[in-house]
Amino acid sequence: MFNWMSLIVNRSLKTAVLTSPLKGRIAIATFLLGLFLVGLSPYVFAIDPSSHIDRALALSPNDGYGFLQLCTRAGDDRVARGPSKAQRMQRKIPPPAKAFDNLYFIGSHWTHAWALTTSAGIIIFDAMDNAWEAEHIIHAGLIELGLDPASIKYIIVSHGHWDHYGGAKYLQDFATAPDGTGARVVMSEIDWQMIEAKKPFKPRPGRSAPPPMDMSVSDGDQIVLGDTTVKIVATPGHTMGTISPIFSVYDGTAEHRVMLWGGSSFNFGSDKPQQLQAYIESTQRAKVLAREYGVDTLISNHALYDRAIDKLGLMSRNVDSGNLFVLGQQSVATTFDVIEACAKATLTKWQAEAQPLLTRIVNSSSELE
Ligand SMILES: [Zn+2]
Repeated sequence: MFNWMSLIVNRSLKTAVLTSPLKGRIAIATFLLGLFLVGLSPYVFAIDPSSHIDRALALSPNDGYGFLQLCTRAGDDRVARGPSKAQRMQRKIPPPAKAFDNLYFIGSHWTHAWALTTSAGIIIFDAMDNAWEAEHIIHAGLIELGLDPASIKYIIVSHGHWDHYGGAKYLQDFATAPDGTGARVVMSEIDWQMIEAKKPFKPRPGRSAPPPMDMSVSDGDQIVLGDTTVKIVATPGHTMGTISPIFSVYDGTAEHRVMLWGGSSFNFGSDKPQQLQAYIESTQRAKVLAREYGVDTLISNHALYDRAIDKLGLMSRNVDSGNLFVLGQQSVATTFDVIEACAKATLTKWQAEAQPLLTRIVNSSSELE
């Protein structure tokens, strides 16, 4: 990208040294202009997010309500916004459903939990917004599915936000025996500390207090329950302690490897570009690890991104559809490319907004809503 600038700088330097005083002054002026342009170039050339959106759209042309939704933060009209958070929260709660022989969806159109059954009890991934939902959606959903909520052994919380930890304490209390043995609430140490730092908890409608600090995990740890192993992958970005577990699921005789992308949106604010840079690096690392571990299925904890409710509906109506959660390893890699492109588009926009004069000159048409 900067070859022509290097050319200006190099030629003007050589000219300044080798030719007459007048030519030398012109050459020095050219040299200084070159330096100015080189200094300006990261802003001028990185300022337009549309090339990243182009890439995301090319990779994911039909995925309007999947992870491509992450591109909406970059404010490009070509990516249509899905339903708002408020709209998703108001929609009728869908029935709990089996996604694989050992993995069940339980949740709302806004946020959801997954129940992974093992030979020694249940692992719950994420716990929705609050105790009411834990009782009336997760607990009731497990019973509706023929599963025993008292057999929950782990509640693995992807990250320390209220819409994922809110129901954890209810589930933990329910599944804890009188002798104190029972469910552990698992989160990264970084996000346990983030929650601690925000105490005291301020009650707000629809939110429950975070669970008391319990079990910490970090990158590379494994949680083993009976015949099942969950590998913990640190994917800092959405929060700096976000984790994205990898585990096996079964569909008849077929084994598939799942990664649950623990934190999706870039909602931490444009004043934290370094956090979005960490997110970008996490998508790149997750893509490598997904290939290494044979991940062919990528799920989320918000149906906006993994389209879990749409997929379960289609699968229930058409038994010949196959398992729509199984993307294949190549499509998982492509999905990470989409997520990365959306993150880069957003970071570029934030950088542009941090340069208000240049933003006005070069890219006046991409303001956020
Ligand atoms: Zn979150």
